[in-house]
Amino acid sequence: MTEQVFDVVIIGGGPGGYIAAVRAAQLGLSVCCVDAWSNAKGKPSLGGTCLNVGCIPSKAMLESSENYHKALHQFAEMGIEVGTVNLNLQQMLARKNKIVEQLTGGVGYLFKKNKITSLHGKAALAGKNAAGFVVQVRLENAQSTEVTGRQVILATGSVARAMEAAPVDNIQILDNEGALALEQVPARLGVIGSGVIGLEMGSVWKRLGSEVTILEAMDSFLALADEQLAREAFKMLTRDQGLSIQLGAKVTRVDRKKKSLQVHYADSQGEHVLEVDKLIVAVGRVPNTEGLNLGAVGVQCDARGGIQVDEHCRTNVPGIWAVGDVVRGPMLAHKAEEEGVAVAEQIAGQQSHVDFNTIPWVIYTAPELAWVGQNEQQLKAKGIDYRSGSFPFAANGRAKGLGETRGFVKVLAERATDRILGVHILGPFASELITEAVVAMEFQASSEDIARIVHAHPSLSEVFHEAALAVDGRALNM
Ligand code: FAD
Ligand code: NAD
Repeated sequence: MTEQVFDVVIIGGGPGGYIAAVRAAQLGLSVCCVDAWSNAKGKPSLGGTCLNVGCIPSKAMLESSENYHKALHQFAEMGIEVGTVNLNLQQMLARKNKIVEQLTGGVGYLFKKNKITSLHGKAALAGKNAAGFVVQVRLENAQSTEVTGRQVILATGSVARAMEAAPVDNIQILDNEGALALEQVPARLGVIGSGVIGLEMGSVWKRLGSEVTILEAMDSFLALADEQLAREAFKMLTRDQGLSIQLGAKVTRVDRKKKSLQVHYADSQGEHVLEVDKLIVAVGRVPNTEGLNLGAVGVQCDARGGIQVDEHCRTNVPGIWAVGDVVRGPMLAHKAEEEGVAVAEQIAGQQSHVDFNTIPWVIYTAPELAWVGQNEQQLKAKGIDYRSGSFPFAANGRAKGLGETRGFVKVLAERATDRILGVHILGPFASELITEAVVAMEFQASSEDIARIVHAHPSLSEVFHEAALAVDGRALNM
């Protein structure tokens, strides 16, 4: 057994942990990052959920499936005749895997470049001594080692929420990992949960040819989103894209047949049985503290079972920090990264923080949804007097050229001050457009500020410009 002392030991090499490691190393601290992820080949693979089985592979499959769909249904209108369009799913999966390999390998490169000690194994807190916190690491070869951190950052992420009625085997009943690796397009695909993963994965397989039925327990759709945005998105996803989304559907049990599954569910109309070939379970994620042995140093958990932290990501134990999915707040990679940066900088003596009011959300359906700040129902509930300005992509020249005219941008600004309080986008490249809104809100911009900024023509950003003008009732192209 060897023992080494580092300024910072980080447990978890996902976006929260690996970015914290890089930033801490940039600031001159000695850093060890312990990560347990092994890929399908049994090899260490840094980058956590995001790079291995989350953000990155899902976006690769979304892009490929969207292009396939366009080749089938949109190219002809643009005057492009491609003859027979064939799906090569093996190639699509290989491309996705290659992107994952490149990016996870890239994290390894960053660790070397920044002289970060990288250990592959499962870490647990083991106690405290004069040098710092002792972290025990169970290595792959069943041996263990100990490292000591003067400070420790816990970044152990989250895992898919299990559902008793539908236990995942990643053969017939799939979580996000299985949903991204299907080697054949299932004729009938069921999805439990119409949240972000359900919609993104449902879209992928629908575009590749599956009949997709999504069963959502809640009566409302995308409860976190602005109601108008959610309503319009629901219409587009069901009517235009052909996803069947059943709201208020409570799954009671799943029977496995030889080649299919029978999903029993109840809604306001009574009891139903849905027969599918594969079933994705996407009912949320839960913080992952399994095996961390938090009790060894007395780190407290919150009501969700995540690690309790304050707004600076400090746990109740001075010197132990926690970031990302394992702590409160949205389970988003960019939130995890920013917390990682802020903690590394605080350890190095800086005064960093994350502005939780301006964390953007994106759902990568077609069209995309993106928002930042508060929505109309939140403003109404708080009694905040606001003005709203909207503008449709249908009236924008660039959107017409792209053949992507569905959706709108909505800007919400405080009536008294005109300060922007929220921006909600349903439309092409909403994921890119939302950044202008984030910047505007960070700089406390008014809708008038955006209205007076020159936006390139023709560009999708003009829709945001026009929506800002519309707050004052003076959109120019409507
Ligand atoms: P993780 O990425 O989960 O990393 C935690 C790491 O810690 C893992 O490598 C794990 O093996 C390791 N670990 C855990 N316990 C131990 C231990 N005891 N010892 C050693 N190592 C340990 N977010 C977005 O912002 N945009 C998206 O488009 C997006 N798409 C997603 C798509 C899917 C299908 C999924 C599932 C998630 C998606 N997310 C997306 C969410 C995003 O992946 C997470 O918010 C992000 O990965 C959280 O980062 P993290 O560092 O907190 O945790
Ligand atoms: P989610 O919280 O987005 O959605 C889960 C859905 O399942 C909800 O609508 C919920 O009402 C429903 N549900 C819960 N229990 C149910 C039940 N028993 N039967 C039917 N429906 C049920 O969770 P997710 O889609 O699993 O994604 C997890 C998290 O991963 C997201 O919240 C997000 O933070 C992250 N993520 C982000 C992105 C992105 O940023 N584009 C993409 C994928 C995942």
